[in-house]
Amino acid sequence: MKITRRYFGRSLALSSTAAYSLAKAQEPAVQASGRKLGYCIVGLGRISLQHFMPACKTAKASQVVALVSGHRDKAEKTAQEYGVPSKNIYSYQNYNDIADNKDIDAVYIALPNSMHAEYTIRAANAGKHVLCEKPMATSVKDSEAMIAACKAAGKKLMIAYRCQYEPTNLRAIQLIRDGSLGTIQAIESANGFVEKAGEWRLNRKLAGGGPLMDVGIYSLNACRYLTGEEPSHVEGFCSVIDRDGRFSEVEENVGWTMRFPSGVVASCNTTYGANMNGYYRVHGSQGILHVEPAFAYQGLHLKAQIKGQPEIDEPNQEKDPAQFVREADYFASCVFENKEPKSNGEEGLRDMKLMADIYKSCNRSMGA
Ligand code: NAD
Repeated sequence: MKITRRYFGRSLALSSTAAYSLAKAQEPAVQASGRKLGYCIVGLGRISLQHFMPACKTAKASQVVALVSGHRDKAEKTAQEYGVPSKNIYSYQNYNDIADNKDIDAVYIALPNSMHAEYTIRAANAGKHVLCEKPMATSVKDSEAMIAACKAAGKKLMIAYRCQYEPTNLRAIQLIRDGSLGTIQAIESANGFVEKAGEWRLNRKLAGGGPLMDVGIYSLNACRYLTGEEPSHVEGFCSVIDRDGRFSEVEENVGWTMRFPSGVVASCNTTYGANMNGYYRVHGSQGILHVEPAFAYQGLHLKAQIKGQPEIDEPNQEKDPAQFVREADYFASCVFENKEPKSNGEEGLRDMKLMADIYKSCNRSMGA
């Protein structure tokens, strides 16, 4: 969306309370019946065990009812903690049997990226809704197949873009949409961390690419939701600096620029070679908005300096796993109320296409 100059004169002092209300408005109406969406957790790794599953303990409309794991011992132990009966523990081999389990409404897919498509499609074929981690897949073709499978089965598909549902990012969007910053000219964003040798994220077959697919995607997605526009042009550069064997299959660094139809230019960086405190800065004709951290699990912090207004300084006090509670319950509301998720398969696909274009401009390709 182009922010035009006609917005300049408006009184723009929207409070952060408004953003919390916005986030609240997206939260599900708790079912009168008290029913919760039964999630089957596919992959018991860090994001599942440390964030999504703990979130389900306090969620209003979500609960863990089944597990899929290659490690029976780990699954049994986790099942005990979550009150999941042994009969609801599946392996990757008998995963299709979830079709016969009425406790399971939806699956949460938290596997390495290249496995997302297969486990989404198998879930849809089993008649289950799918909440799938980002990036949605490792190719545009797989992403399209996921969307088609869920459509054919009449099941919801949501990509787990948690930042699209939390108050600080919603507040940033609001300050841009209501014209507070004037005409948006430029965005800078970065997100990265130091990746250790031996991680699947460095394996091209499992990850599909390097930091762009894993954490650069936050900057890419943010530039799109902040502007409300789709980039008309992207161009990137990839590099490897650390020749220590970690980056023989995926890139270490990607820098890319995007031009949006309104003329906004965004410059982004991502890396597996340095810790970047995921952030964005939005430069408008009337002020500057700086969110840092912008993509972390907690401690998000929004600041803005707007001409003629008191400085805005809004630290987010929510603690992890609040973002995951919101995400899980939002998806539950989509299922219960038959609503299309905001971050549906098509939304995930847009990022996949853009990442493919960025790699192409670096003379690389995405995927295995
Ligand atoms: P992880 O390595 O901690 O967990 C991956 C899980 O997949 C493990 O349980 C592992 O046993 C299982 N697995 C099955 N087959 C495997 C194989 N062939 N190789 C490796 N593991 C295999 O990874 P993670 O950090 O939990 O990431 C999982 C997914 O979640 C990724 O797609 C990632 O991008 C996404 N993620 C999202 C967020 C977020 O904030 N939304 C944060 C971290 C990760």
